[in-house]
Amino acid sequence: MNPSYVNTQTLVHELGHCLDLLHTYEPSCCHETCNISDPEYLYDLFGYNPPSYCWEKGHFGCKITPGENTCTNNIMGGNNMLHYYFSPMQMGKMHRSLSIKSGKKYVKEDVYDNRVCKIKENETWNFDIRCYSDIIVERGATLTVTGKITMPEQGKIVVKRGAKLIVDGGIITGIRQKWGGMEIKKNRNGIQHLLGREGEIELKNGAVIENTGKLGK
Ligand SMILES: [Zn+2]
Repeated sequence: MNPSYVNTQTLVHELGHCLDLLHTYEPSCCHETCNISDPEYLYDLFGYNPPSYCWEKGHFGCKITPGENTCTNNIMGGNNMLHYYFSPMQMGKMHRSLSIKSGKKYVKEDVYDNRVCKIKENETWNFDIRCYSDIIVERGATLTVTGKITMPEQGKIVVKRGAKLIVDGGIITGIRQKWGGMEIKKNRNGIQHLLGREGEIELKNGAVIENTGKLGK
């Protein structure tokens, strides 16, 4: 491969496609119309009050010229000079892709992110997902799992007081033989009882939690 800078940008652009990104320019842009209520709409690229036709009009070969504004420096844009920018929402889509799309097969097994995935309201995960961090189900929230969760080796799932985890025919397993396991917050003394009802876990319809020795703490 020619190692020139321009070709490196192209490689990054193509990897962006592999991780679910479309172009920022017509006609291969965007899943839907320019509709801010569409969860796929990238408002950090196309604005909060988009016109019906919001994406960049510049095709490949477009040069960024102040005043013309038909293309930007976005890596998924069509300009052939300088493109080196992913927006935060594009980054979010790539992270999502690495968790739920086929790209997750190519992430190294030991990847672990010590930021936490917090579940703060009721959610149903009816898809297969590879997680790279701990999951905490917060007070007042219920996480229902009907798909498969694959946890990192160090990763654990914490069910706080007043929270609930329901595994309904789903599977929770690890990317390797063992993973960090479950912490269901229990009330062992009077003070803890004052903090709220114990965390709950409910397994039903053939639910499986495997490769962990711990189911309470
Ligand atoms: Zn492309």
